[in-house]
Amino acid sequence: MEKKDLDWASLGFGYVQTEQRYVSNFKDGKWDEGGLTTDANIVLNECAGVLQYAQTCFEGLKAYTTEDGRIVTFRPDLNADRMYTTAQRLEMPPFPKDKFVEAVKAVVKANAAYVPPYGSGATLYLRPYMFGSNPVIGVKPATEYQFRIFCTPVGPYFKGGAKPLTLCVSDFDRAAPHGTGNIKAGLNYAMSLHPIVEAHKAGYAENMYLDAATRTKVEETGGANFLFVTKDGKVVTPKSNSILPSITRRSLMIVAKEYLGLEAEEREIYFDEVKDFAECGLCGTAAVISPVGKIVDHGKEISFPSGMDEMGPITKKLYDTLTGIQMGRLDPPEGWIVEID
Ligand SMILES: *Cc1c(COP(=O)(O)O)cnc(C)c1O
Repeated sequence: MEKKDLDWASLGFGYVQTEQRYVSNFKDGKWDEGGLTTDANIVLNECAGVLQYAQTCFEGLKAYTTEDGRIVTFRPDLNADRMYTTAQRLEMPPFPKDKFVEAVKAVVKANAAYVPPYGSGATLYLRPYMFGSNPVIGVKPATEYQFRIFCTPVGPYFKGGAKPLTLCVSDFDRAAPHGTGNIKAGLNYAMSLHPIVEAHKAGYAENMYLDAATRTKVEETGGANFLFVTKDGKVVTPKSNSILPSITRRSLMIVAKEYLGLEAEEREIYFDEVKDFAECGLCGTAAVISPVGKIVDHGKEISFPSGMDEMGPITKKLYDTLTGIQMGRLDPPEGWIVEID
């Protein structure tokens, strides 16, 4: 198969239209057979549920070329599970998990020419999503839905090395207790746009959100979970019902224990403790881990000993090990790597 003639290393995180995408429609109480299409556009009624009451959710995962030239995806079953849970919370018909994984494979296979080569640093990003498609004017769940997966090649996340970020503690809340913080709903991102634009204007890369009820505990950023390393080398991550369960973060906790022999614990983390940690990172599919060098709380600065020049040493080990597994350089735990044949 001939690869597309793209300058892989200079791609950003943007939309590049590829050839095939997957579509399935839900109507009369059931999902249809579903299949690939070349049509990248969607025609919707003006009153579609998604347009009026934001009934939409999504997922994100990647396909990689391994060192030995295989094309693989990373734990797509967990994206299928999470989208299932998300759909239930939004009164949308969950998409069957086995069909989700099959659709991921079909989209990657059909767009294999867009999967960046090993060593380019670029990857193929997959975006599964679902939305209410029939007219809804009284507030209620739609009765018809569309599930889609498209893919787009994205460039190396860290061009010229991973530079530690500076975050600020936000005055906005990301998620209410018992709200929708733990599901991947589009609405969670709509309401985070104003806080992130404000943070960027003030010179910060991301917001650190605290728990909405007490504003004493660390939750997450707009789109990534926190990992901290204590001064005695233990990996800790916040536990909360209003955090989105990141697949990257859950995988890194296993990597810490099983591959690096570190203690790793998910527990409530008070903001007061943050100043005592040695390292901090943000985890998500896009970057795996982005190192954090500094957090500013209303003028009060917390600087991590790992500094503003490079990733902390344990963060780096976690990053190298997980990316090693994804790129086929290290043996994966059972079921983590799903090959596209
Ligand atoms: C998607 C997402 C993450 C990262 O999850 P991954 O499965 O690791 O990509 C973290 N926080 C929020 C709010 C998210 O929407």
